[in-house]
Amino acid sequence: MANLTLVSPLRGWCAPLDETPDAVFAQRLLGDGVAIDPTAGVLHAPCDGEVISVAAARHAVALRAPNGAEILLHVGIDTVALNGDGFEVLVAAGARVRQGDALLNFDLDQLAQRAKSLITPIVITNGERFSIANARVGQSVDIGDPLLELQPTAAGAKTHIDQAAQQEVTGRVTVAHDHGIHARPAALIANYAKTSPAEISIAVRGRKANGKSAVALMSLGAQRGDELTLVASGPDAAKAVAELKKLVLSLDEKTASPAPASASPPPPASGGGVGRGPSQTPGRLRGVIASRGLAVGRAVPLESAEVQVAEAGRGIAHESAEFERARAEVRTRLEQIAASSHGTAREVIAAHLEFLDDWELVAAARRSIARGKSAGFAWRRAVRESADTLRALGDPRMSERVDDLLDLESQVLLTLHGEEPVVIRNLPERAILIAEDLKPSQLVSLDATRLAGICLAAGGPTSHVAILAAAMGIPALVALGSAVLDIVEGAWLVLDAEQGNLATAPDQTALAAAEQTLAARQQRKQAERAAAHADCRTADGVRIEVFANLGSLAEAQVAMAHGAEGCGLLRTEFLFLERDAPPDEEEQLRQYQGIATTLDGRPLVIRTLDIGGDKPIPYLPMPAEPNPALGLRGVRTSLWRPDLLRVQLRAILRVQPAGQCRVLLPMITDTAEIRAVRRMIDEVRRELRINGSIPLGAMIETPAAALLAERVATEVEFLSIGTNDLTQYTLAMDRGHSELAHRIDGLHPAVLRLIATTVAAADKHSRFVAVCGGLASEPAAVPVLLGLGVQELSVVPTLIPQLKSLIRTLTLDACRSLAQRAVALDTAEAVRALVNDFSASEPQVAS
Ligand code: PEP
Ligand code: MG
Repeated sequence: MANLTLVSPLRGWCAPLDETPDAVFAQRLLGDGVAIDPTAGVLHAPCDGEVISVAAARHAVALRAPNGAEILLHVGIDTVALNGDGFEVLVAAGARVRQGDALLNFDLDQLAQRAKSLITPIVITNGERFSIANARVGQSVDIGDPLLELQPTAAGAKTHIDQAAQQEVTGRVTVAHDHGIHARPAALIANYAKTSPAEISIAVRGRKANGKSAVALMSLGAQRGDELTLVASGPDAAKAVAELKKLVLSLDEKTASPAPASASPPPPASGGGVGRGPSQTPGRLRGVIASRGLAVGRAVPLESAEVQVAEAGRGIAHESAEFERARAEVRTRLEQIAASSHGTAREVIAAHLEFLDDWELVAAARRSIARGKSAGFAWRRAVRESADTLRALGDPRMSERVDDLLDLESQVLLTLHGEEPVVIRNLPERAILIAEDLKPSQLVSLDATRLAGICLAAGGPTSHVAILAAAMGIPALVALGSAVLDIVEGAWLVLDAEQGNLATAPDQTALAAAEQTLAARQQRKQAERAAAHADCRTADGVRIEVFANLGSLAEAQVAMAHGAEGCGLLRTEFLFLERDAPPDEEEQLRQYQGIATTLDGRPLVIRTLDIGGDKPIPYLPMPAEPNPALGLRGVRTSLWRPDLLRVQLRAILRVQPAGQCRVLLPMITDTAEIRAVRRMIDEVRRELRINGSIPLGAMIETPAAALLAERVATEVEFLSIGTNDLTQYTLAMDRGHSELAHRIDGLHPAVLRLIATTVAAADKHSRFVAVCGGLASEPAAVPVLLGLGVQELSVVPTLIPQLKSLIRTLTLDACRSLAQRAVALDTAEAVRALVNDFSASEPQVAS
């Protein structure tokens, strides 16, 4: 256990305890320590810790330090007789405090007149476990100066071994993933730490943070390659350190939110700030694309005045109650929005909920309230301090999380003022919102059907607002500079978020041209939607089935509205991630049944859990793996934890009507894995007294499975090609690698040859074969896949209408000849060029 330095809790003169005019202290009956004769009336915490007790007469506070030391801070001698007069306590028992926090105020003059002495003993009441060194006795001290060092004694060490509950355990782990500990990894770590009873801190490069606070962890600014020191004390300390190490090692950048728009034009010279931007031309502003699309509409400027807060509170009890009320109201509102949103919007709200209950933020605000500040002032200060720390890291990802924090700040402040944090309730039709910046909560509370576009003076292309706008299909430009704020309400605008331009004064011809483009797109979309529910056949009459890839019940509804013929891939991970324990059989059954019912009898292919590697879950600690993409993943994880697989299979087999569901196994590499799962399915069928069998399929995602497809096909009823992983493992390029992103291409001829091998094997054994990886959702790749013999696609639900209408324009002969030429090429670039030429020669293919 390490030494702990206590810092001075007072300004004054530090004396040996012997000089205390009280035998109890002078003879160290309460423990060893020092005494300070104070010259200022605020007592501060000498270290981080928990308040064990506050004397009823408000003159003394006891703290427990993270190393177990118990420290009594007793202001003056015989001050108990003052019955609290002249004292104001700022903390309560049970509160956690940081070194330097104010604990109580005392009236120096009054005490000087009424108490026996002002000298303040600082004693270690469980001193048998510590020896004191380097005490600053005989010197003047200021608040925060080192005061003394506590060194654990042998007896202390022994006691620690006896009392595992107080044990301090240290571990080290190096951050391995690309962007360090940003918001998502910080939330994962804090979420795990909160489930542990141990006190946990994490330090890096001389900075230390509470492991249970996502905000504090983000503020560490830990980067890839940094070594983190994990320190845990108290119950389960060793387990906490071991689990945290694994969690940090398994964090993967795939947990980060995707950037909504790629290939944005270069930002204006003003960057992300609100400068005017020297390159702006009259009537046209350049911005950064945050969400692609074209919009014509009228300007609706958004005023956002900062909420005013009074600094002084109206009593600690009142302000505390107000603070809790406001947080509870905001929490309820966020939970309601989360329940009715899905995908990205839901993730954004989840981040806000995380911040709302962040241990450090809430504790900082409570401390300010205890010092007499108003709830609003305390919350704003806590948020702004965290935001400043994050900003100072200079990492654009972190600065964007600042937006989320400030968003939450105003939600709580508005609620404290009794206002709903909704900005504009009645948007006019075709509104193009103009604002300096927009908060995610503001965006999700707007009527998306009336919102045509978004133009922000500031903001960044990877912010949550950008991701949300992209998910909602609303064109958005950010970083337009402050000139955008001069646009008057009602002005007609053409927002071209494909080129990065905002026409601020379009003439009639420009408006008409933009309207015409929009109308043509709209018409094409409507025609595609209208035909989306009809069977899909190529121009020469070959039936092609188009299914949807799903990850939630909400997506099943979207898929049905877009003409899905069923679900070709249900990624069941959504049920298992971001929680403390796996879903039980009943919960899984409810979810699968909900989706099956929504699909209204159409086939539902349920993939068994595909976690491990890139998708860590805290309650399923995996052995540390140097290369998780090549470790316990997919079906390997299920066979490693057959208890989880059994529950999942039971839930799938219980879905009604029997026969609607099929089971799909991820990451198959040989037939033994399939046979092992089939044995378990048979056992479960016997347990549930189910006579009929359930179709079992294998995902072809590894070169091994593709090369063995003929053998694999004999063991299953169907095959499904996962081109995302098949590409990663064939090309030996991490599918999440940002530097290699442009080279990880499923149209690589090697991948196409493996697809051809798989289709031929399936044909030979009369098995169905689908493609469910990302390649199937790419309009340019679809003709090649059909040419290779694929007759089932499972795709992003909203793309179904477009893909069906594309397929209807193709002839299989043309596709076959295209595929033959593609597999004969040497590089992915050459195949891309070939398919682009093909698409260009088919006018209907262009999107
Ligand atoms: C794939 O690998 O192509 C696939 C569909 O699975 P996932 O993307 O979920 O790994
Ligand atoms: Mg996969």
